[in-house]
Amino acid sequence: MGIQPTSLASLLDGDLLLVAAVNIFLWAWVQWVPSRVVQVSRLFRGARGLALPGLILVAGEPNPTLLDHERVHILQMRKWSPLGVACILAWHYLIGTLIVRLRTGSWPGLWERWQACPLEVQAQQPEQQAEAAIRVNTRGLRERNQGRS
Ligand SMILES: [Zn+2]
Repeated sequence: MGIQPTSLASLLDGDLLLVAAVNIFLWAWVQWVPSRVVQVSRLFRGARGLALPGLILVAGEPNPTLLDHERVHILQMRKWSPLGVACILAWHYLIGTLIVRLRTGSWPGLWERWQACPLEVQAQQPEQQAEAAIRVNTRGLRERNQGRS
């Protein structure tokens, strides 16, 4: 017995392979299936919108500016893949926050980190929003809103 040489196959087995497979599935989903817009009563920490692979959650009445912003996030998932976006967010909110702490000596607030997040900065830009004029599925919203009136 001794230390076995590590092969690529053994590195890619189990959990890592599952994560890669789920990411490829979700990546294909955001590429080809229009994201469904779903209205919810409220979101985490008062957020007005949240883009997930194939799903845009909006708190309260959706407005065009909010949907344009969330569409940019869907485009970011198309470009970087859902796992890629998760890695960018993890880097920004974990490592980036630690770097700010080391540089300034104080912990930045979540709002401050959100404003500095490169994905959010990009999603705020009107030219990026214009580019992100992708189709989303608001059919459920329209039906619900028509049902109310
Ligand atoms: Zn955003």
